[in-house]
Amino acid sequence: MAKITKRSEDYSQWYIDIVTRAEMADYAPVKGCMVIRPWGYAIWERMQRALDDMFKDTGHSNCYFPLMIPQSFLAKEAEHVEGFAPECAVITHGGGKLLDEPLVIRPTSETIIWAMYKKWIQSWRDLPLLYNQWANVVRWEMRTRLFLRTSEFLWQEGHTAHATSKEAMEEAERILGIYRTFSEQWMAMPVLSGRKSEGQKFPGADTTFTIEALMQDGKVLQAGTSHYLGQNFAKAFDVQFQNRDGQLEYVYATSWGVSTRLVGALVMTHSDDAGLVLPPKLAPVEVVVIPILKADADNAGILAAAYRVAEPFGDDVRVRVDDRDNVSPGWKFNEWELKGVPIRIEIGPKDLEKQQVVLVRRDTGKKTPTPMDAISFQVPGVLEEIQDGLMKKAKERLEAGCRAADTYESFQKAMDEVGGFIYAPWCGSRECEDRVSEETKATIRLVPDTAEDCGVCMVCGKGPAKRVPFGRAY
Ligand SMILES: [Zn+2]
Repeated sequence: MAKITKRSEDYSQWYIDIVTRAEMADYAPVKGCMVIRPWGYAIWERMQRALDDMFKDTGHSNCYFPLMIPQSFLAKEAEHVEGFAPECAVITHGGGKLLDEPLVIRPTSETIIWAMYKKWIQSWRDLPLLYNQWANVVRWEMRTRLFLRTSEFLWQEGHTAHATSKEAMEEAERILGIYRTFSEQWMAMPVLSGRKSEGQKFPGADTTFTIEALMQDGKVLQAGTSHYLGQNFAKAFDVQFQNRDGQLEYVYATSWGVSTRLVGALVMTHSDDAGLVLPPKLAPVEVVVIPILKADADNAGILAAAYRVAEPFGDDVRVRVDDRDNVSPGWKFNEWELKGVPIRIEIGPKDLEKQQVVLVRRDTGKKTPTPMDAISFQVPGVLEEIQDGLMKKAKERLEAGCRAADTYESFQKAMDEVGGFIYAPWCGSRECEDRVSEETKATIRLVPDTAEDCGVCMVCGKGPAKRVPFGRAY
């Protein structure tokens, strides 16, 4: 099996090697698009299931809106059209004929959803609407990277409608909390969270909340966003409701989403030079049992022992016995290592004699001989240790990757040399924000609620300034 490129040699190639050789995704015939292969899709399904449960536990329902949106809908909200028009794919022909009005393939669904909400919302009794859809969207991208940025991607988009501003803001914050919990507890990926600056918020939103993660190469990644849309889309689509006092009022809205880019974030958070490293909760297979079969030998006893070892896990742990006889045990070890399975259990003839197996951890490589009849009791604890260990390691990296700079010069130096999140003083103006991003390619990732006052802006020298984290983002 060909070796994957080392991180220290070429981080970008390392990432592509893992995604393609672990058979997570492949390049599609159309540039910028990807084919998600079963291993990658199974990881996405685990993510979907966890998130979907959390959405439903907080009162949301799934639904589905069409892929095609009349082009005129997009134009109704000024900021929205400006933000999305350049990256829209437009359909001009259908059934062999030129269409009267071109159709846009959804880059996001606010417009079509609010066109429908106009039909469904009349009174405060119709509110709130707490809808989510799992769908694909298309944003024409020039520079793409598997999972992280592709022209078509899968995501969930929540779109809620509320009677009051307070309720909508609470919803946007609640969802941010769900994203944060998912990221930390399932992905073992610690994040910073807060509001986006004016320059970075969603086109059409009043406030955008975000979670931001740090990758191993010092670049940062926006992992999920939740928007408080105020009455912007209600006004654009004239969605009014009669409030409890009998007066007409525009509806308040939120929208929020995470996408298959989380799979890319997962790869870049934990993996190493041997391949993918998966946190157990998101691993399609948590334990692989590998009988060490010998050519020209009677392997029946070893095979039977492997099935016996796998059997007691039941539904609690996702176990697979790799009983293929057309590849060597060493080949299998490499393959499952590359695919990131958290625990490997080896059984060879000598182990069978001693009634033991060898448990190998993917995260540390540690090998532990374990009595055969104790293994099913020990594995759940080891899986928890792996999940916690990955989070601890990622958290230490995030903490070490958060630095402070006071002057623009020291800021630029730190950004070039180490990257990560550099906390620097900013006056709050769009002008200074834009200058930093043009000159350094680093952007304000978020404005923390707890941002401290810290003298003067590193760009314009005016005060008061707040310390905010900048980063170079994927
Ligand atoms: Zn300034």
